[in-house]
Amino acid sequence: MEELTPEQQAQMRQQCIFCQIADGKVAAKKVYEDDKVLAVLDINPANPGHILLLPKEHIAIMPQMDDELIGYMGIVSKQLSQVLLRTLQAQGTTIFVANGVAAGQRAPHFMIHIIPRMEGDDAGLKPLEKKYSEEQILQIHQGVYEAIKRVLGDAIPPEKQPINLDQKETPKEEKPGTKEPGKKETPKESKKKASPLDDVSKFLTGQ
Ligand SMILES: [Zn+2]
Repeated sequence: MEELTPEQQAQMRQQCIFCQIADGKVAAKKVYEDDKVLAVLDINPANPGHILLLPKEHIAIMPQMDDELIGYMGIVSKQLSQVLLRTLQAQGTTIFVANGVAAGQRAPHFMIHIIPRMEGDDAGLKPLEKKYSEEQILQIHQGVYEAIKRVLGDAIPPEKQPINLDQKETPKEEKPGTKEPGKKETPKESKKKASPLDDVSKFLTGQ
């Protein structure tokens, strides 16, 4: 976002329907507004009272959000949900982000959906429940766990960590002290077997 010139930014705002709404150039059913965010009713609601909460700044997808703003949007989402529950008698709320086209994102402007729910409504928001074998679930767990650990570090105590499928197959020969401290992956390890992440990608892409 930073590399865009003011002219390019202005052009982007002109082409984005939600920026146009935020700028007051296109009419919308506003339900909340402050200096950072705007909440409007979805014109094609999953249920009556379906709210779209958006940043006023043009931000296309979640990775471009700054942490403070996404945190703030989380707080406002909670408050809007509370209003739907307490005042408008919703029995529950579904809160989600369609992050990217594959996830069903239709407009290139980040938003959080807040949808009032009633028991037995036909909003169609229940994900499929796919079945995988125990072995596949182990692979998926290991792959996802290791990817998150690589990025966020270790937050789970060792006894709760997934079984390492590699270690189960081949006993460790490594002597203590031969590994450089702080280095999580040696070339030897990565050569040994494809990353468990490849398995997760396989499940996602169906290949
Ligand atoms: Zn926009």
